[in-house]
Amino acid sequence: MPCLVIDHEKCLNSGQCVYLQPELFETDEEGAPVILIESPDGALVAKAQDAISMCPGQAISFADGDAR
Ligand code: SF4
Repeated sequence: MPCLVIDHEKCLNSGQCVYLQPELFETDEEGAPVILIESPDGALVAKAQDAISMCPGQAISFADGDAR
């Protein structure tokens, strides 16, 4: 199952993902984005892909998670 991940080395803490897709991301107390749903499915996949394409740091991606 693909797993949504943030590369915090690349993240610019712009907050864009949280603003655009609050179902999938929130901001922690230090202003860094946190993924709320690591394995989105259904309509959330398109939202995740939207966040991936909008991220100014190209920090969000789908990684192969615990592939069986
Ligand atoms: S949109 Fe990208 S750069 Fe901005 S906070 Fe989210 S992960 Fe970080």
